[in-house]
Amino acid sequence: MNGIQMVDLKTQYERLRHRIDPAMSEVVSSCTFIKGPALKEFETNLANYLGVKHAIGVANGTDALQIALMALDLKPGDEVIVPSFTYVATAEVIGLLGLIPVMVDVDINTYNIDISKASSLVTSKTKAIVPVHLYGQSAPMEDVLAFADKHNLFVIEDNAQAIGGDYKMSNGTPAKTGTLGDIGCTSFFPSKNLGCFGDGGALFTNDDDVAAKIRMIANHGQPQKYLHKVLGVNSRLDTLQAAVLNVKLEELDDFATRRQAVAAAYDDAFENIEHIVCQKIPAYSNHVYHQYTVRITNGQRDELQNFLKSRGVPSMIYYPIPLYKQEAFSKYHNDIPHEVTEQLCKEAISLPIHTEMESNTQDYIINSIESFFEK
Ligand SMILES: *Cc1c(COP(=O)(O)O)cnc(C)c1O
Repeated sequence: MNGIQMVDLKTQYERLRHRIDPAMSEVVSSCTFIKGPALKEFETNLANYLGVKHAIGVANGTDALQIALMALDLKPGDEVIVPSFTYVATAEVIGLLGLIPVMVDVDINTYNIDISKASSLVTSKTKAIVPVHLYGQSAPMEDVLAFADKHNLFVIEDNAQAIGGDYKMSNGTPAKTGTLGDIGCTSFFPSKNLGCFGDGGALFTNDDDVAAKIRMIANHGQPQKYLHKVLGVNSRLDTLQAAVLNVKLEELDDFATRRQAVAAAYDDAFENIEHIVCQKIPAYSNHVYHQYTVRITNGQRDELQNFLKSRGVPSMIYYPIPLYKQEAFSKYHNDIPHEVTEQLCKEAISLPIHTEMESNTQDYIINSIESFFEK
């Protein structure tokens, strides 16, 4: 079978272009490229969707994380706890600001931060924690919040992979992922669950002062034009991207449903394959499947990947090397190795999943995997 992709952006665009093209066209014909009406509209729509007071568009998800740390007034030398199994951006911005990323291991069932291992990492310099909602399901937020409360830490949620996901509090109250900490951050990179046509990102918060500060920092530190209160950055979400996102936000729940159907078919098929262990979904979270990622427990993950490649089935290893083993982080003397992160780097493999998966394509992928394990 030809042309199987990890993510099929083209077919999704074809399906939605009758709504996206006019929205983009309106921005172009009105030349409202910077801070245009579609951006304001999107920020309002996103805040309403998430149930937060403020959503602020920025240039990308990495900037969102950086601006969040800046808005909370963290100072060089302050320590920030992050999981060691995540995309580099989460820890990179911490180091860039002169803060110290302190890495903590993750849980083998959910692949998310293991709070039980975080207490021993707290020092008098620890000021914040950045849980990552990896692959599309929430970190254990009530545990994170209780931990943060106990140690007086800010909580910045890296929601780049789980936008649209649902968290359920232990008392039954629902919340969207990314809205429980002090600041939530997300990315609109094209392949993310809510993706635009280039780079984009956003921060969300319920705190009016923090929101004002985020806006100021993202705009060269100016509360008003030519008055520069702090050193800031130039990080904007283009109006064109906001126009695309306004259309796609209306589809976000449907996107999740489509991804969940693909995941359910994989789950069913893999139930009887001894060496495949699927990600566990905890009671407090649903899963919006930015990635469908399983563990291959017989040591043949890389062989499986090569076999699938030979059959035209792409797959990805997110992430092959623990962050603390990356040269960029060598100076932080993180407490290594982390048992679960090491294991996931060797065992995890992500399979094609997106909003346009055809059942015959998925059958082919599943048959290919089955035949590998029947060899
Ligand atoms: C994609 C991603 C980011 C960064 O977003 P960009 O828009 O690419 O800068 C940060 N954290 C996680 C977990 C991500 O998946």
